[in-house]
This record gives sequence, C-alpha cells and structure tokens, in this order.
Amino acid sequence: MSPPVLPVASDERLPPSADVVVIGGGIAGCSAAYALARKGHSVALLEKGTLCAEQSSRNWGWCRAQNRDLRELPLAMRSVDMWDELSTELGQDVTFRRSGLLYVTTSQADLDQWEEWSRRAREFQFRNRMLSAAEAKAMTPGSTGAWIGGLHSPFDGRAEPASAGPLITEGARRLGASIHQNCAARGLERTAGRISAVVTEKGTIRCNAALLAGGAWSALFCRHEGLRLAQASVRSTSFYTTAAPEVTTGGLSMSDVTIRRRLDGGYTVGLSGRALLEISPQGLMNARQFWPTFKKRRAKLRMSVGASFFRGPEALTRWTNDAVSPFERARTLDPAADPALVDMGIRFLGQVYPALAGLQVAKSWGGLVDSTPDAIPVISGVEAVPGLFLSTGYSAHGFGIGPASGRLAADLITGDAPIVDPRPFRYSRMIDGTDLGAPGML
Ligand SMILES: Cc1cc2nc3c(=O)[nH]c(=O)nc-3n(C[C@H](O)[C@H](O)[C@H](O)COP(=O)(O)OP(=O)(O)OC[C@H]3O[C@@H](n4cnc5c(N)ncnc54)[C@H](O)[C@@H]3O)c2cc1C
Repeated sequence: MSPPVLPVASDERLPPSADVVVIGGGIAGCSAAYALARKGHSVALLEKGTLCAEQSSRNWGWCRAQNRDLRELPLAMRSVDMWDELSTELGQDVTFRRSGLLYVTTSQADLDQWEEWSRRAREFQFRNRMLSAAEAKAMTPGSTGAWIGGLHSPFDGRAEPASAGPLITEGARRLGASIHQNCAARGLERTAGRISAVVTEKGTIRCNAALLAGGAWSALFCRHEGLRLAQASVRSTSFYTTAAPEVTTGGLSMSDVTIRRRLDGGYTVGLSGRALLEISPQGLMNARQFWPTFKKRRAKLRMSVGASFFRGPEALTRWTNDAVSPFERARTLDPAADPALVDMGIRFLGQVYPALAGLQVAKSWGGLVDSTPDAIPVISGVEAVPGLFLSTGYSAHGFGIGPASGRLAADLITGDAPIVDPRPFRYSRMIDGTDLGAPGML
C-alpha cells in the first residue's frame, strides 16, 4: 500500500522546448529541477506516474551525514544545511527538523566501526559524539535495551518524505519549471551525437540537456540508450504507527529496528538492512560487480525469483520511442510490505520500549531501493553523449542528500563551479574498469 503523497498539479501542455528536461520526479529530479530553475534555466520535469510516489515517499525520512560513506560526506553535510535553509527560501515549511540522530547498540563491532568512522569524519570537520553505555541509556529514557554504547549527531535531522519532495517541486514551479506527471520519457534524440530532445509518451521536447533521475528505472533507460549502468535493487519494508508517546524527537537506530518521530506524532519504523532480493536478468548481468555488497549484506537478505524476472525495471525489455514503453506499464512501483517484518518491528518496539507496546500500524509498504556496486550515487555527465547527465543510484540514502545532489547536478549541467568535488560520483567509474571495491558505510 503506497504511503500518501502530497499532491502536486501537472501542467496541461508539454513545452516545445526547455533548456533542460529532467526525467524522474523523485527527490533527485525534483531537487535538480528546483536548483536549475533557481539558476534561471527553463526546465520541464517528467514523471511517469505521481511525483515522489516511488522511493522518495517510502523512505524513513532520515537526513543524515553521520555514518555516511566518506566519499559522499561533504555532499551530505552540505545537504543537511540546505534542508535547514529550504523553508526560508521557499517561504514554506518543508518539514525538516534538525532533531539529531542517535544510534545505540549491543554490539562491540558496531561501536568499533562508529569510532573509526567518527575519527575519519573529523577530517571533514564533522562533529558527532561516541556515547558510553550510561550515556546511551540516559539518551533513551524508558528503554529496556542493554546498550553498551552509542553515537549521536546533533547536526543531523529528519523530514517528512511524503511532502518534502512535492513542496520542493512547487518551489521549482514558482520559478518557472513545468511539471508533467503520467508522462513517461521513452527515449532521447541526438543531433550530431549531442542530446537534442527527449521523446515522451505525450510528445517531444527539444532541449540542450537531459538529466536522468529515474531511481530504480535508470539502468533500463540507459540500456535503451546503449549505455551501461550497474544498478541493483532490493525490496524493503517500512511502516508508520498511529500517534504514540514521544521516546525520541529525531531518529533512533537500534540493532534491528529504527524509528523516526513524525510530525503527526507517530513513528516511521524501518527494519535495518532486512530486504528481499528478487533474482532478475539485470541482477544476473551485474552479479560480479555486486558480489562484495552482497557478501556484506547477505545475513539479512532473503532471496526469491518472482515477477521481477519478467516485468519492471530489472527485466530485459526492449521498445521503440514510438510505442508504449515499460515506464508507462508501471506508473508506480508499489511492492507489498512483508507482514512478517511488520510484526517483527512492532514486537521489537514493545520489548525495547514498554511505552510503545501494542502500537497500531497505520500504514505499511514496500519500497524498491536502487543501489550501485560501491553504494554511492552517479551524479555526472556522460562523456560519450554530450548533454546527457545522470543523477541516480542513491543506494538507500538519497533522500537526505537530495537538496545538495540536486544542486550538484544543476552545477554540472550549467557548467558552474560544483558545490563539492564531483569526482567520486563520476559515471565513468562504472565503465572504465575502475575497481569499485566493497561499499563503505551503508
Ligand atoms: C524503505 C526505504 C527507506 C529509506 N530510508 C532513507 C532515509 O531515511 N534517508 C535517506 O536519505 N534515504 C532513504 N532511502 C533511500 C531514498 O528513499 C532514495 O535513495 C531516494 O528517494 C532516491 O530518490 P530518486 O529520486 O533517485 O528515486 P525515486 O524516488 O525512486 O524517483 C525516481 C522517479 O523516476 C520516475 N521515472 C523513472 N523512469 C522514468 C521515465 N522514463 N520517465 C519519467 N519518469 C520516470 C519514477 O516513477 C520515480 O518516481 C530509503 C529508501 C527506502 C525504500
């Protein structure tokens, strides 16, 4: 069942041309459209279904720099600051709260990893704090968890995924961007090798540049354009509760379960790392590159063969730009929640927080999380196709980084000085034989 998303109206007509066409209306595409419009460029934002109805409204709402892969830490830190500024900039509450994020654990291995990460993060001027067992206990009043320590970042925060992306999109519209939902991009047109138009199911838009921000669908779109993008997805489960006593004001990560306080007084609950990997043709093609990630995560992964083999973003579908594309056949990816995981989450919460025993589930849902082999995104131009840019592969942490990733994509498209060093996110690492190695912090 989809979580509800704040509705955004669509523009009736496609513009004949735009400086930039953004393909995909998740947080990456919406934020890029906003950043481009803010720079004064004309933008058309295309979404095959409803804005932010896939990953960008199904996530936990954590906006964090803590425990990030260090290669994306500068971008993540910049993003948290941008979240803070957005409400003022847009003249509207985008729902971000700098409420801090707290991790507690019963595992010495977690503490060792966090300590090492925090030491290295200080080189980036990131400040957080390791907690002793007593401090972890004091910061989780009412919890019965036998925490041996923790990690706290007062810098980080939370936002409401169901409304943040739509509100940013409304901001882009006020600056002149046009918004087109139920409008899939089928493919690209090139003139003398350069991007010259985007072909949609409702007509063609001429443009100087196209940004592909298609989430789990990006690799399929790239394949259609003759480009290789190693991407794999897993299906995870989340849910939110009805209003409940406040045990944290921000996000709290415990060994198996995370909770995030919501503006409506409930909690969004996540089952850390637990997910279903459906075998698919794309998955088999990329198996070698994803092996290190798979090894790291396999203890909590379930595997199955299902519909993904034949339908959806990871099937080997072909189409032409004048015929219905796979994007129109699946307006919104809406995988079911795993009821066993929902039960596990509710049970765990009741055990660790007696005040939360017997909580009601208001809504539960599944979400297909897309990932790259090194678990950091691609935010980059594509050298072989001038005018084509990618912003994708956010590897389970693209919501919090959204505002800055949108700005970085916009900087690259317009040729402005990038807000952070874009090299870690270059597309070429996927195809030039770079050893992508094992992912850092997930
Ligand atoms: C359960 C869960 C928990 C998570 N928790 C967090 C968290 O706490 N913090 C965090 O930072 N991240 C979190 N994430 C990850 C985060 O949600 C994603 O990384 C982020 O939303 C990705 O944004 P996106 O815009 O790249 O993709 P998406 O949100 O998936 O958007 C892509 C959009 O492109 C559209 N599209 C695709 N192809 C086409 C086409 N051809 N034409 C037109 N439209 C197209 C799709 O319909 C879709 O709406 C979580 C994810 C899940 C599922």
